[in-house]
Parts: sequence; structure tokens; C-alpha cells
Amino acid sequence: MNLGIISVHGCPIRQAGIKDVGGMNVYLLETAKRIADFGNKVDIFTRRHDPKDPQIININDNLRLIHIDSGPVDAEKKELFSYINIFTKKVIKIIEHENNLYDIFSSHYWLSGIVGNDLSKQFHVPHVTSFHTLNDLKQKAFPFDEFLPIRSKYESLIAKKVDHIIVWSNHEKKSLISLYNLDPEKISIIPPGVDIKKFQQRDIKFCRNYLNISLDKRIILFVGRLEKLKGIDILIKVMATIEILNVQLFIVGGEGNSPEIKRLKDLAIKLNVREKILFLGSIPQDELIYYYGSSDICVLPSYYESFGLAALEAAACGKPVVASRVGGLPSIVIDGKTGYLVNWKCPGPFQEKIEILLNNDLLRKKLGKNARSHTKNLTWDKSTSSIIKLI
Ligand code: UDP
Repeated sequence: MNLGIISVHGCPIRQAGIKDVGGMNVYLLETAKRIADFGNKVDIFTRRHDPKDPQIININDNLRLIHIDSGPVDAEKKELFSYINIFTKKVIKIIEHENNLYDIFSSHYWLSGIVGNDLSKQFHVPHVTSFHTLNDLKQKAFPFDEFLPIRSKYESLIAKKVDHIIVWSNHEKKSLISLYNLDPEKISIIPPGVDIKKFQQRDIKFCRNYLNISLDKRIILFVGRLEKLKGIDILIKVMATIEILNVQLFIVGGEGNSPEIKRLKDLAIKLNVREKILFLGSIPQDELIYYYGSSDICVLPSYYESFGLAALEAAACGKPVVASRVGGLPSIVIDGKTGYLVNWKCPGPFQEKIEILLNNDLLRKKLGKNARSHTKNLTWDKSTSSIIKLI
């Protein structure tokens, strides 16, 4: 099979955790590598984000990353719609020049869905899409971000035109059916996965020694892009009232002194908990494993989360996860068995579950062990096999 992947803004080789780079980028690299390992030819077309990037990077013999110049390298995500036609035209030019006809296009996020639909029409090949997040769901869960009506319009159009849709959870499937009145047969649930060898249970003493963290600390870990949607404010507020000695919140993700990091630091100062919170910035996964290994629990208080890879990685590392009951998180966290799901996006209920876990070593160990077992059903290999079977 010759597969053309379109990911306009999500370049899979960028460091996850910085602005607009997260789970989707990780997903693309992990699945594309494995699809290529099965002997398929895979090309990923993505926008050039760095002028120093070569146009083509051979990730392995079967997998190429093809950078497309469309708009300024540092353009904001919300500006990218205006460069979509340029992106599509350049991809068509490359395909025609190489005379490399794809059997199928797979697109990721609505901007790429627009490109995928046009390529599918131009070359008469099927198009499969994954939205990753849906504007209407995100807005419903967190109405404080700028609303882009054009995005909803295109998500509806793509959903109707595309040949098939891959979603990550039953919640997303149900939402798509009710939003756009789609045939359920058109949608397959294929959850992402985790590399259970990379993310595994490691000795906490070893990990803390490696990172130079004292053993008497209680560590609550958050991993992700620093966006308001992630609910980090809730965690900072928890730190102001939590009744646990030596507790620290580690926040992994974000970059430098970005406005969002500054806003969160200001909130911590205002609540007089700045010294209890460590902002670590974004960290490559090879290093991140030691932070998971050093933590006591992981918390994801998101307002909306289409899946939540960070929760899955923490679980694979044998850590109980306290997460909001939203989107795909209930498929990762089994309430009371591998962690806790919280219905309300406010500090009190999160604090209660965090304290229960931090006060009970045996319970934490038991839930962590269950969490690790549960992740054995959610691997990249399994996810990729299902994708290959489908396409
Ligand atoms: N991540 C990372 N370094 C960081 C922060 C995050 O490598 O500093 C990775 C993390 O390991 C996970 C992904 O980024 O694989 C975040 O995915 P998730 O689904 O949790 O959040 P999303 O970005 O999709 O909202």
C-alpha cells in the first residue's frame, strides 16, 4: 500500500509539549513508523515550521516526511486556514512530479481534512480522516476560547464527504453521529496506544536519584501542552488547600516564558503556592519516562480531552491517574480500579481523590499495578494493526 498522510500543522518530528504540538504529533509518528514497518510506503506531508528543515526527511526506508512551504514558518494555527489552498496545490505538484500515486489519503485535524478531500477528488482515491478534536465538542466543554465558526462548517463538510472516519473513543463516535447525522458504519473506533516497553514501571528510587529529587517528596505530575483547556488552574488551586506534607506539583510542558506559563506562575504566586510548583517546560519522552517514574500520581484535570495520551503513559508506568470524566479519558482510567474519574472541573473533588491516593501507599500501589495491566490492551502495535486492517 502507498499511503499519503496529510498533517498540515502537526509535524511529527517536533518536540511535543510546546504550543500546538502534542498527542497528535506523537500519534502520527508512532503509527506511521509501524505502518511503514509492515512494508507499506508512507509519506507524511506537513507544513515547514523551521526554515532549516530539509524538504524531505527519510525517517526510514519506507517513511518520508515531506515539508511544504505554505505561509510564514511561525504562522499561528488559527491563521493556517488562509494558506490551505497553497498547501494543497504544492502537494499536488509534488505528487504529479514524482508520479507517485497513492492508494489512499489519511488526514489529521480539520485543516488537513480539507486538503484530503481535495486530493481525493483530484486523484480519485479514498480518503480517511481523524479529527482529533471537534470544534463543537471543545467549545461546549470550554466556551472561553475563541470560537472559529469556519472550523465547525468544515468539520461538518469533511465528515459528510470523507470515505471513512477514525475516532479514538465511543464518545467521539456518538458525538459525530449526533452532530452530523452520519451512518455509524462510516466511523471506526481505533484508540491510540502506548509503547509499553518505553513507558514501564521503574523503580521510584532509581528515577528520583537520576533526576536528583529527594525521596521524602510527594509528587503530583501533570504532563501536556499548557493550554487553558487542560485545567491546570484547578491543580494550582488544589495546591493552595491540600493537606499533605512535602507535596509538590510538577508541570511538564510549555515553553520558556510563554504568556500561558507566566499566567500560571502569577496564579501560583497569588495563591501563595509558587514554591510548591515546579514548571519544567517541555521534555523529550526519553527523559519524560523518569518523571513518570518519579511521580506518586498523575493528574489530568482537562475540560476536554479527545483521548489523553499522557494519562495512558502514566498508567503504563504504573501510576494511578486522577482525571476528568471527559472525552476519551474514561477508556484509559477505570474509576476506582486504575485511578479516579472526577465529574466536576473544580479543585475540591480533585483534591479529595489526590489526598486519598497520597495518604494510602497500598492503595496507590494496587491502582498503579491495575493501571499498568490495563494499558497492555492499548498498544501502538494493536492500534496500527487495526488501522492497516481498515485501510
Ligand atoms: N509530551 C512530551 N513532552 C512534554 C509534554 C508532552 O513528550 O513536555 C507528550 C506526551 O508524552 C504525550 C503527548 O505529548 O505523548 C501529549 O498527548 P495528550 O494526548 O496527553 O495531549 P494532547 O496534546 O493531545 O492534548
